[in-house]
Amino acid sequence: MEKIKMITPLVEMDGDEMTRILWKMIKEELLLPFIDLKTEYYDLGLEHRNETDDQVTFDSAQATKKYGVAVKCATITPNAARVTEYNLKQMWKSPNGTIRAILDGTVFRAPIVVSNIEPCVKNWKKPITIARHAYGDVYKNSEIKIPCAGKAEIVFTGEDGTQLREVIHEFKDKGIVQGMHNLNKSIESFAKSCFNYALDTKQDLWFATKDTISKKYDHTFKDIFQEIFDAEYKEKFDAANIEYFYTLIDDAVARVMKSEGGYIWACKNYDGDVMSDMISSAFGSLAMMTSVLVSPEGYYEYEAAHGTVQRHYYKHLKGEETSTNSVATIFAWTGALRKRGELDHILELSEFADKLEKACIQTIESGKMTKDLVAITSTSNPTPLSSKGFIQAIRKILEEML
Ligand code: NAP
Ligand code: MG
Repeated sequence: MEKIKMITPLVEMDGDEMTRILWKMIKEELLLPFIDLKTEYYDLGLEHRNETDDQVTFDSAQATKKYGVAVKCATITPNAARVTEYNLKQMWKSPNGTIRAILDGTVFRAPIVVSNIEPCVKNWKKPITIARHAYGDVYKNSEIKIPCAGKAEIVFTGEDGTQLREVIHEFKDKGIVQGMHNLNKSIESFAKSCFNYALDTKQDLWFATKDTISKKYDHTFKDIFQEIFDAEYKEKFDAANIEYFYTLIDDAVARVMKSEGGYIWACKNYDGDVMSDMISSAFGSLAMMTSVLVSPEGYYEYEAAHGTVQRHYYKHLKGEETSTNSVATIFAWTGALRKRGELDHILELSEFADKLEKACIQTIESGKMTKDLVAITSTSNPTPLSSKGFIQAIRKILEEML
């Protein structure tokens, strides 16, 4: 078979620990034999980030703006222990945070559904994608512990001298207050990313807040979504035969539970944090979850939702066999390759991505899987495979398909 040709390179962001090992295996076994792979390589492994004073992370994000599509391996976010372990010059910031700040995006997370891992919610048949706004609210708040009786107020002092005040509460005794904010511009980006992603994946979009109680704060989210939808997206949604609707968060939760899945649920920052953990665990496993950052300008960065699987890496370093699930990392590659195929009109590339995803699913459905899935599958006698053995089993099915 002749290898599939590419036109534009993918931005390849290599990473750390066990996922770095999987990264190499995936390329060698599942990509390079079939694709004339074109990538612009950035080594985001912690050693190289340290050597370059984290410049490599900035460069990789800039390259994503240049080429449009990136695929990222999981990376270590340093803490004090990592500073010692890797003898770091400083506690470098989270690469995901840095990239997100440069691309200004929304993170979409969706479970990878296989028939022999059943969601806890029995009527969920299709994946539910969470779109989480990643700026502001309680994550950038100011809080005070009120020590005694007194009046708490919020005050805004405009550069033009405008003064706005609101009494929060007249305290009779000890208590607590919290102040938070968001930016219209950030909410607009969030809305556009959600609408674009819904069009891209041809799924309905749900958005929910608590606007009945929060008549200015949450209501602003609702209004911005609606204004942008009416002005720029309504016709496109009609043409794609998909729907946007807004509902109260309580109602959304009730509907999600009774639904069969197959839509995008856009959430404010806190709701998205909490609900994505609920969705992923109800669907089975973090190792079966895709994640993509979509910027309002239409740049895409694909990755796995899990981390570098440190515990497995230490076993690997000791020469012990590992059984680490590579599906989410493979799906990061297929997501990026499919998108590249679409943008460059290389049908074969997009079809290859579809087939590789099918090969992963078929492998698991045939009972061959890594140990994390063995623990939760409904298949009665599953075959546990090593990290490498699993990837080779996928290759076998892929070769039959091709
Ligand atoms: P983690 O790497 O996601 O792993 C946590 C546990 O989940 C693992 O020990 C393993 O459980 C299970 N697991 C996760 N992925 C798996 C897979 N593919 N196959 C099988 N089991 C899997 O989270 P962490 O241990 O908290 O973090 C490790 C490092 O990753 C940290 O340095 C953190 O900064 C980084 N991190 C990076 C990203 C990212 O780049 N997007 C995200 C999160 C964390 P068992 O040990 O029970 O088998
Ligand atoms: Mg969380």
